[in-house]
Amino acid sequence: MAFDGLAEKLQNTFKNLRGKGKLNESDVKSAMREVKLALLEADVNFKIVKDFIKKVNERAIGQEVLNSLTPGQQVIKIVNEELTELMGQTQSKIDFSANPTILMMVGLQGAGKTTTSGKLGNILKKKGKNPLLVACDVYRPAAIKQLEVVGKSLDIPVFSMGDKLSPVDIAKAALKHAVKNNNDLIIIDTAGRLHIDDNLMVELEDIKSSVKPSEILLVVDSMTGQDAVNVAEVFNERLGIDGLILTKLDGDTRGGAALSVRAVTGKPIKFACVGEKLTDIEEFHPDRMASRILGMGDVLTLIEKAQESFDEDKVKKLERKMKSNDFDLEDFLDQLQQMKKMGPLSDILGMLPGMNNKALKNIEVDDKEFLRLEAIIQSMTPKERKNTNVINSNRKKRIASGSGTKVQDVNKLLKQFSQTKKMMKQFTGMEKKMKKGGKLK
Ligand code: GDP
Repeated sequence: MAFDGLAEKLQNTFKNLRGKGKLNESDVKSAMREVKLALLEADVNFKIVKDFIKKVNERAIGQEVLNSLTPGQQVIKIVNEELTELMGQTQSKIDFSANPTILMMVGLQGAGKTTTSGKLGNILKKKGKNPLLVACDVYRPAAIKQLEVVGKSLDIPVFSMGDKLSPVDIAKAALKHAVKNNNDLIIIDTAGRLHIDDNLMVELEDIKSSVKPSEILLVVDSMTGQDAVNVAEVFNERLGIDGLILTKLDGDTRGGAALSVRAVTGKPIKFACVGEKLTDIEEFHPDRMASRILGMGDVLTLIEKAQESFDEDKVKKLERKMKSNDFDLEDFLDQLQQMKKMGPLSDILGMLPGMNNKALKNIEVDDKEFLRLEAIIQSMTPKERKNTNVINSNRKKRIASGSGTKVQDVNKLLKQFSQTKKMMKQFTGMEKKMKKGGKLK
């Protein structure tokens, strides 16, 4: 999970503060020393750490904190607010006022530009855009093919003209193509280099002046910490970027780039990528990220993920079935599959308040269990799924061998299912009673 190392250290520091009934100046100062160390170890820019600690100290040592009934909480609140401020205060959105909107993706080779172009197209398509991906990376072998594969798997058209023409010509032709085909969003995947070099910058400047992108988005690998911040400074000076997309946040335990890049460049982080799958992209919300780092959870992102993953018609059907008490294993399977779409269980649980790394380790977070349950249900006949009463011991043996599990596993699943059903019955019964009593609408 992103920021694990930093989150754990900060949470430990604050656990000590929370435990104290009253705080004095030296308590706050020593906590802030720990916060400072944690931020430096997380590879946050030194000057930014210094300013940050100064601001928090000034606010935290103020009378209203030390005299308050919950001084520890007040300090955490201040740190939360200042972390949020550091990352840009509010969510920064893409400006879609131009039609078509042209997003030019830039960054070093390997940062994740091509993958991110696809991810971005996908998340914006879900919001109603009609994107066109444009392959302008004519240098990296296989970059064009890679974009085509990404586009195909997302059902997003890809405009390419091979690697013989100049990126400027390709970009211009793509623009015409998009207008003709009603694509209101153009995402241009440009070439990167292993290091910043002048040729690259000149080429990007040429594309910029010829297609006049609505936004230039810099893709940086957050795992490279301060290097990513330095790269961002140079790209911003040369090209004038409009925002950043951080990739590989899933592997970034430190968080230095995410915490410093906004303050150093003055440009907002617009999206964060958290895995290799094409759905592993999130809008970047500074306040939610700060809460996650401090172990306060990110319930809002969790709700959004659920809304995206759950099919509304299926939810309605499920509700009806719950009410009429004919929820069967087919529905159970459906539910499992929809939950799986939300991502690994550990990531989902990680967004709940109080769920730090340690807490997660204590819970058996086993995504394989999902697969096992799925395999067992899939080995049942439709009749068995509708009515579990027909599953006698012979059938259990057949289901176990068909799903590569044991009879005990089948029994466990049947028990879980019957408990779920019982719970649903109680719940709907309760709801009916409350309705009768006029307590609910
Ligand atoms: P490009 O050279 O900038 O176009 O980079 P690519 O899009 O080819 O990505 C380089 C590598 O990083 C690929 O193996 C991607 O799968 C991987 N990658 C990109 N984004 C992420 C991410 O958010 N998390 C992880 N774990 N891997 C990523």
